[in-house]
Amino acid sequence: MSTSPQLEEFMNGLIRRNPGEPEFHQAVHEVAQHIIPFVEKNPKYEAAQILQRLTEPDRIVSFRVCWEDDQGQVRTQRGYRVQHSNAIGPYKGGIRFHDNVTQSILKFLAFEQTFKNSLTGLPMGGGKGGSDFNPKGKSDREIMRFCQAFMTELSRHIGPFTDVPAGDIGVGGREISYMFGQYKRIRNEFTGVLTGKGLAFGGSEIRVEATGYGVVYFMEDMLNHKGLKFEGKVCCVSGSGNVAQYAVEKITTLGGKVVTVSDSSGTVHDSEGINAEKLAHIKELKEVKRARISDYILKYPHAEFIAGRRPWHIPCDLAFPCATQNEINAEEAAMLVANGCIGVSEGANMPSEKGAIDVFQNARILFAPSKAANAGGVAVSGLEMTQNSMRLSWSRDELNQRLRTIMGDIHKRCVQYGADEDGHIDYLKGANVGGFVKVADAMLAYGV
Ligand code: GLU
Repeated sequence: MSTSPQLEEFMNGLIRRNPGEPEFHQAVHEVAQHIIPFVEKNPKYEAAQILQRLTEPDRIVSFRVCWEDDQGQVRTQRGYRVQHSNAIGPYKGGIRFHDNVTQSILKFLAFEQTFKNSLTGLPMGGGKGGSDFNPKGKSDREIMRFCQAFMTELSRHIGPFTDVPAGDIGVGGREISYMFGQYKRIRNEFTGVLTGKGLAFGGSEIRVEATGYGVVYFMEDMLNHKGLKFEGKVCCVSGSGNVAQYAVEKITTLGGKVVTVSDSSGTVHDSEGINAEKLAHIKELKEVKRARISDYILKYPHAEFIAGRRPWHIPCDLAFPCATQNEINAEEAAMLVANGCIGVSEGANMPSEKGAIDVFQNARILFAPSKAANAGGVAVSGLEMTQNSMRLSWSRDELNQRLRTIMGDIHKRCVQYGADEDGHIDYLKGANVGGFVKVADAMLAYGV
C-alpha cells in the first residue's frame, strides 16, 4: 500500500513544496498511506481536498530570541511556533528546546499533534513550538533568562482561546513556570495559557505522569485485546526523562520487569530489573543533579553501561521507545523481533524510522504509533485546560481514571478503524484514520 501511484504523486508534490524537511515528509507519508485509500472511498473528503489542506500548516511564526549568558555575552537563537490546525479547538502542543530543533522537526511534530489531539476526544487543535536553544549545561539563571526572552516574543501569538503550549523535550516544569511567569507579567492576565504548570498555580494532578502512564495503558489494552497479560513481561525502555520514568513506574506496577533505560550517551542494562528504589535514584540523577544516566552504575555496579548504543539489541518481550524521533532503525527493529519482542508502544514522537515500522508490521507484532500511544500527556493537558476554565481542580484519582478511560477509548477507536478482514489490528492505520475523521468533518462543515 505504501507505494501506490497516488501516494507517490502526492508525496512528490509535498516534497517539492517543502524541500529539505525530511522529518516532515516522513510524518506525512506515514499518514497519507492510509488516508489516500480512505479518502478514495469517501469522496466528500477528496472533493474538499482535506488531506492537501491538512498537510499545509495554518501558519508558522518564526522569531529571533536574544538572551544574556552568565558571562554577560549576548546570545541569539531562533524560536518558532507552528500553528498547524485549529479545526477542532485552540492550537495545542508542546515546546521543545534542543540544539537539533529545525522547522522540519516542528512541522512534523505539529502535524502529528493534530491527529493525536483529535484521537483524545477532547476539543484541541494541533501545534508545536520550540527553539534550537540547548539547555544542557546551562545554569538555572540562564534557563530563566532564555525562557523569559522566548515568551516575550511568543506571547503575541498565543492565548487560552488561541494557542496553548506545554512542555516537550528540554521543557519541563521549571521552564513552563518561567514562561508562565513572563506571560503573566507581560499581559497582566492569569489564564490557562500554558499547561504542565505547577500545582500551586493552576497545574493538574497526573500531568507529569500522564504520558508515561498512558503509553503503558495502551500496551495493556493491546495485550488484553489479544488475551495476553502484562505480568512477567521483560521490557526495554529507552530514554530516562519524564516519559521514560513514568513508563518504568507503571510497567513495574503492572508486574512487568524493566531492564533498560538510556540517554544520548548510551544504555543502562540492569538484568535484575529497575524497581521503585532504583527508579527514585534515576529521578534524582535526572531531575535534581541533571547528571548522565551512566552514573546509575556508580550506585548499582551489577548493572552494565553500554556506551554509544541504544537498548534494542537487548532481548525483551515489549519495547517502549521513550527518547526521541527516529531512535529505532530497520536493523534494530529486526533485532527486536528476532529476539522475541511481541509489542512496541511509542512514548516518544515518531521514534521508529519508516523501515522499522515496516519490520514490525510485516512481523505482525503489536505496534502502537506515538500519536495514539503517547496521547495521554496532551489528554491531561486538555483536562488542565478544563480545570483552569472551571477554576476548579480535580483529585489525583479522578484524573487518573479519566486518563485511563481516554486511553481505552483511543484503543477502541484504533480497533474500529484499523481492523483488517482477518481480525488483525493495524494500529497505525487505526490511529491515522481515527484521528483524521473528526478534523476532516469539522473542516467540511466550515466550507472553504
Ligand atoms: N509534548 C507533548 C506531546 O508531544 C504534550 C503536549 C501538550 O501537553 O500540549 O504530545
